[in-house]
Amino acid sequence: MSIRVLEIPETGLAIEGIAEFPHPFQDTAWVLEAVSLFVEKDKDEVCVRGHLRSRVPQTCSRCLQQFPLTLTAQVNTRFCPGPRAVDDAVELRPDDLEVDFYSNGLLDLNRLIQTETELGLPMKPLCQGDCRGLCPVCGGNRNVTSCTCEVRLPDPRLAALKELAERLSTRATPRGGPGSGQDRRPSARTSTR
Ligand SMILES: [Zn+2]
Ligand SMILES: [Zn+2]
Repeated sequence: MSIRVLEIPETGLAIEGIAEFPHPFQDTAWVLEAVSLFVEKDKDEVCVRGHLRSRVPQTCSRCLQQFPLTLTAQVNTRFCPGPRAVDDAVELRPDDLEVDFYSNGLLDLNRLIQTETELGLPMKPLCQGDCRGLCPVCGGNRNVTSCTCEVRLPDPRLAALKELAERLSTRATPRGGPGSGQDRRPSARTSTR
């Protein structure tokens, strides 16, 4: 949905509900569930405030399962008229007010919804707060199967020995072979969470 800036009434424009946004996202698997925006002119700038809720398919960073993430985003963006490229990064002011640009007298609200949703996505998505991840031995999803693999906590004394053994074996490996150089793992730091 785009709004002609000239046609925004002086009293502002309220946009409620998703009906005005049949295709808000580039990825059709993303779903806009709710939106409430208030668009207001301030000379040649436009303020958009409100909130939205989206559902976005994510892949859990621990167990690699797909899951739908529902996220809400607060919108507080000021649009300035500008000849700036559409895909430039959004600037952040100290007060968290975002500044964006509109061009050709048109305010692209789909792009606003896309940007706000992207900003709300987690860096490391988790299907659930206590996702147990994958078994490092068999690769099974520990949330659904309890495998019998033994994952022993490293004994600090054994860890020291193991590290020594690794260092010796690295030295014995021919140059360029596996285990040489940077891909040597840090000492026996097994995940215990
Ligand atoms: Zn998970
Ligand atoms: Zn296992």
